[in-house]
Amino acid sequence: MGLLFGPAGIPLSTKKKTPEEGVRECARLGLDCMELEFVYGVRMSPEGAERVKEAKEETGIRLTAHGPYYINLASQEEDKLKASRERVLDTARRGYQCGAESITFHSAFIQKRPREEVLKIVAGELKAILEILKKEKVKVAVRPELTGKPSQLGSLEELVELGRLVKGVLPCVDFAHLYAREAGRYNSYQDFCRVLDILVKGFGKKILKNMHIHISGIEYTEKGEKKHLELEKSDFNWKDCLRALIDYEVEGFCICESPTLEKDALLLKETYLKMLKRKK
Ligand SMILES: [Zn+2]
Repeated sequence: MGLLFGPAGIPLSTKKKTPEEGVRECARLGLDCMELEFVYGVRMSPEGAERVKEAKEETGIRLTAHGPYYINLASQEEDKLKASRERVLDTARRGYQCGAESITFHSAFIQKRPREEVLKIVAGELKAILEILKKEKVKVAVRPELTGKPSQLGSLEELVELGRLVKGVLPCVDFAHLYAREAGRYNSYQDFCRVLDILVKGFGKKILKNMHIHISGIEYTEKGEKKHLELEKSDFNWKDCLRALIDYEVEGFCICESPTLEKDALLLKETYLKMLKRKK
């Protein structure tokens, strides 16, 4: 099966800017998947979700979803914590209704506390969330994302630890974020292989066949991620990243968050297929 490529959100070339038309546009463009962006809130209606599911079934485009930016599963304010929990749950519920197979979100902010403490709180919250989704029969993978800034929970090591504490939680591996949060480290073929080795050590080899990845161009400062860029305008070494993913025979979703969405998603897909062919 290999990797599936698609944009983070409705392709820019979509005429009618609805998620269902976005799905159809992905199919027309020759892409494989699309991430539903609930980043400013889960506002899609159940009817809207049915329309997305219809488009998904008609085209065979596979789906993932991204939760709202305003999530902090370690908030010290009860109302914010409760709202964060609901936002993850709603992303899962609505995403699943659309036919999404995996959801991702930025789990928490550190806010000057020991990282270990924040991690434990988030682990407890994730356990509770998985319980609820299980009861509701919402079958979607819940994946905290590798985040772009050290002020957020979500380093590679923290995600491995979360997975160890909460059975069934795998990470969404954003290679551009890793590069940005580590201020430019993690940018060589060997580095990307090391990331995959760490994942295999933490989760077993089977994780390589079930990945949710983000790859985009990115600009960073000493505080981590600044903004996403087009692949060709970024120093992020996306080609060697793809090479490592091919050599480790990684399968799953590869979502592109570049500002040019589908253009870069297609560039990733074409480059990936060319490399794959050369290898065979
Ligand atoms: Zn994200």
